[in-house]
Amino acid sequence: MKIFDTHTHLNDDPLWDQVPDYLQTAEQLSVDKMAIVGSNQKFNQRAVQLAQQYANLYAVIGWHPEDADAYDEPALSEQLQQKKVVAIGEIGLDYHWEQNPSAKEQHAVFIQQLELAQQNSMPVNIHTRDALADTYEILRQHPVAHGMIMHSFNGSLYWLDKFLELGCYISYSGVVSFKNAPEVRQAALQTPLDRILVETDAPYLTPEPHRGEKNQPAYAHYVAQAVAQTKNIPLATLAQATWENAHKVYQVNDKN
Ligand SMILES: [Zn+2]
Repeated sequence: MKIFDTHTHLNDDPLWDQVPDYLQTAEQLSVDKMAIVGSNQKFNQRAVQLAQQYANLYAVIGWHPEDADAYDEPALSEQLQQKKVVAIGEIGLDYHWEQNPSAKEQHAVFIQQLELAQQNSMPVNIHTRDALADTYEILRQHPVAHGMIMHSFNGSLYWLDKFLELGCYISYSGVVSFKNAPEVRQAALQTPLDRILVETDAPYLTPEPHRGEKNQPAYAHYVAQAVAQTKNIPLATLAQATWENAHKVYQVNDKN
């Protein structure tokens, strides 16, 4: 059995100093591949560095909505050409924090990166917080043909249907294992096996039974387990489906 953590931040400060240890633990729990996701210049550079250093890691780079005011399109365009960069992300909208760039600014940077993905025939990894309706509307108007991943999905069944209709992949994080998140399990239950992905978003969103500790890519195993339990299917079946979907959307083959 092999598991692909499609969204993780080994490039982030809390994990950065012990990357070899985290990779070893991941291997022990069958988490054999991962996509390292950036959010600004510093973390994008680290994501590319890790992906080029380790055969089983890939880089997803872009400007997070919280960093929209620092968006550097020439830098991103250039970095996209580097080896092992498989997608643009995480990009999207975040209305949660008052100090975030304005909605107008976030929209502009989100749209520019969707268009850049389209031009480069790349998929996108999407962050949305308190902004499902606007995220949906922007994706509807600026769809990315090579794939759209809704990262750490936590919307209602209504929104699940809307994003599935657009052709999105739906990625579940440790939230799916939280007692107080029955709505997320409802969504996981209704997400078809050919559109579902698993991720950790480490160091955040640690799944049960490790909730409260620092998250790490190895715990994608527990996320997969929680989704499999919710769907009442064997873990190996869920792992295989998400493994194949991840390779398909990130356009990487099983050998590299
Ligand atoms: Zn993330």
